[in-house]
Amino acid sequence: REFLRRAIAALDAASGLHLIAAFEQEFVYTGVEERPGHAYSLGAWRRQGEFGESVVAALRAAGLKPDSFLPEYGPRQYELTIGPQPALKAADQAVIAREIARATALRLGHRVSFSPMPVADGTGNGVHIHFSLHDALGAPVTYDPDGPLGLSKAAAQFCAGVLHHLPAITAITAPSPVSYLRLTPNRWAPTVIDIVKQDRGAALRVCPVFATTTPKKIAKAFNLEFRVSDGSASPYMALGAMIFAGADGIARKVALPKYDGEAPPLPRSLGQALDGMEKSAAIKEWFGPTFLEAYLRHKRSELAHVAALDPSDLCARYAEVY
Ligand code: GLU
Ligand code: MG
Repeated sequence: REFLRRAIAALDAASGLHLIAAFEQEFVYTGVEERPGHAYSLGAWRRQGEFGESVVAALRAAGLKPDSFLPEYGPRQYELTIGPQPALKAADQAVIAREIARATALRLGHRVSFSPMPVADGTGNGVHIHFSLHDALGAPVTYDPDGPLGLSKAAAQFCAGVLHHLPAITAITAPSPVSYLRLTPNRWAPTVIDIVKQDRGAALRVCPVFATTTPKKIAKAFNLEFRVSDGSASPYMALGAMIFAGADGIARKVALPKYDGEAPPLPRSLGQALDGMEKSAAIKEWFGPTFLEAYLRHKRSELAHVAALDPSDLCARYAEVY
């Protein structure tokens, strides 16, 4: 939480801007049978019984404003989104939402798993972080119809910073060995370091804006989505890393990348991601030497601990924990 707090301060120092975020969390609920062909269906919604309405009611009772609960693409997969809030509060509420979903499932005699890949050849669970930038008075400043991909200058620099630092921050936003089974082709999960309009396979997705009539309304609804994160990451760490990277993009006026041909790949494994993290001078500054060393040692010992497991045992183990 302190890491995110410092990232928010870095963004403020670099730009005077604030970030509003909404976490969209995917998970598997065991209290519903697996049925082929039920992706996004009303049937899949009905079949989960009282779980969804109980989660939403409990969230409201806890003072949160849930945006949606819906069946996702995979078998027994659902998604829970809390409405946008200032960064620190959004991360707090992502944690609360996870715990309320877990507690509700348990009361019903079942469980939920937010593991990025509960089954080795199954569907991935992402945690997508929607975000937009706002000035000191709260006015939205992410949108510019004449900017690249509709981005304002500050938003373009912020995104350029995130893309620039992705090889280093992926170890924080996708911090488990099974994270890298999710970050593979044809899963609506990112595999390369890119920013694309509406593309669910992009690292940064410029989200479509629906039902808006005036430029002012578009500016209010306009947001981006960071898709390189999953439920094995701390929401504080993932959002903090993204904000530190974006703030650096603004501070150094980084331009959006132009690639000749394909965009560079994301790390392909946790080992690669940790090596990328260790090489980054920026991360050293954001973490401080003690925290960084502790993080790298902790994650490398986790990797060594599960090194002998095959993908299906590995996924089963992480599905238990997360
Ligand atoms: N389940 C996909 C993921 O792992 C995302 C599906 C969606 O676009 O909502 O990120
Ligand atoms: Mg989804």
